[in-house]
Amino acid sequence: MESPKPILDFEKFDDGFVQKLVYDALVWSSLHGLVVGDKTHQRSGTVPGVGMMHAPIALLPTPFPESYWNQACEVAPIFNELVDRISLDGKFIQDSLSRTRKADVFTSRLLEIHSKMLESNKREEIRLGLHRSDYMLDEETKSLLQIEMNTISCSFPGFGRLVTELHQSLLRTHGDHLGLDSKRVPRNGSTSQFADAMAKAWLEYNNPRAVVMVVVQPDERNMKSLAEVETEGRVHEDGTLTVAGQAVSVVYYRSGYTPRDYPSESEWNARLLIEQSSAVKCPSIAYHLAGTKKIQQELAKPGVLERFMDNKDDIAKLRKCFAGLWSLDDPEIIKKAIEKPELFVMKPQREGGGNNIYGDDVRENLLRLQREGEEENAAYILMQRIFPKVSNVFLLRDGVYHKDQAISELGVYGAYLRNKERVIINEHSGYLMRTKVSSSDEGGVAAGYAVLDSIYLN
Ligand code: ADP
Ligand code: MG
Repeated sequence: MESPKPILDFEKFDDGFVQKLVYDALVWSSLHGLVVGDKTHQRSGTVPGVGMMHAPIALLPTPFPESYWNQACEVAPIFNELVDRISLDGKFIQDSLSRTRKADVFTSRLLEIHSKMLESNKREEIRLGLHRSDYMLDEETKSLLQIEMNTISCSFPGFGRLVTELHQSLLRTHGDHLGLDSKRVPRNGSTSQFADAMAKAWLEYNNPRAVVMVVVQPDERNMKSLAEVETEGRVHEDGTLTVAGQAVSVVYYRSGYTPRDYPSESEWNARLLIEQSSAVKCPSIAYHLAGTKKIQQELAKPGVLERFMDNKDDIAKLRKCFAGLWSLDDPEIIKKAIEKPELFVMKPQREGGGNNIYGDDVRENLLRLQREGEEENAAYILMQRIFPKVSNVFLLRDGVYHKDQAISELGVYGAYLRNKERVIINEHSGYLMRTKVSSSDEGGVAAGYAVLDSIYLN
């Protein structure tokens, strides 16, 4: 591995200079909308524009070797293609998740919708994928390893671009003093590329009067929650979905990925209703399931990628990013994980952060599962723990900066749009770096563990 030069020598910069950077970063964030709702403000989230706070950010971009950046960009369209192929193989999805279904109610409900679609021979002609593949650079093996592939509700394409532009702007102003060149922060088209893919999906659907519907969690404005879709939605004879009388061409899920988004049968009914319609779903139920951790683990087994891909180079490129992944029915690996739990992460079939099991809890949970019997095993996978390089960072929260030791996770967005045999878009579509203090196991920004960041190529 090219060893990244530390760009941040804490000793080099006096507090006065850092405060100046902080001030500029805060002004820039306020002016450009790099802001989130401030939960301590009473009316935040109810009155638009009231109670905003700058987003949690790294003050400066984190160094990242250019060769790994290129590698992550290069595999993005291959992963897009893979998700598409998996989505067409209903049997693979059902078989891979058949044991998970018994152990995990949420996955089982998703599979139920999926099998209804298979039974009715429902085909998705126009397929839109807005994905984010996440990676960490493993110090031990010197390789770029995939953490997971997100196929639903990938967060922060909007913030990704903004934080990149903030860092570029700071380096244009202070680069000389910092010894950094703003051009080494790669441009980030995440927002416009995702918007472009949605617009092109809308065009393919070819109904100028139809709208794009964003499905959100309750209490957000201007959009529809799943419960509202159940009450106001209808699928017509020709497959058209209407919600409150409006035809819908594209459905984007900013919700629907966690059991909490389905508090009653209404939400499940709405998900099924949308799936039965001809609207373009981002994601379809098959794309959603293709992004589960269980499928990720199945794909890492020998010979499985070959079921979906012909090109040997492409297969090799994907496989190179796979970390060790195991199901819990492998006694050898269970034994090893009980002995050395710190080398593993145990993952349930969940998204959105805060669900994984680390360290001694891995041992305890594995021992518990051994006592309680086989069935529940299938709710989890085991993954090799990745240990990225620790670097010095300035983290900025609540207008105050902290120096800390941190590790980073690079997410590369990918957009895919296809109408029958015609691939309209298949590209890498910008990125998001998330940086967290190295003492924290989990990584979510919204969950409060990490900050938004960009990369400095070296
Ligand atoms: P989620 O769907 O909840 O985002 P992830 O698989 O992305 O689940 O895991 C959440 C976080 O846990 C990641 O962002 C990362 O910080 C950490 N993590 C996940 N897998 C590993 C791993 N194999 N090694 C080290 N850290 C990991
Ligand atoms: Mg994740």
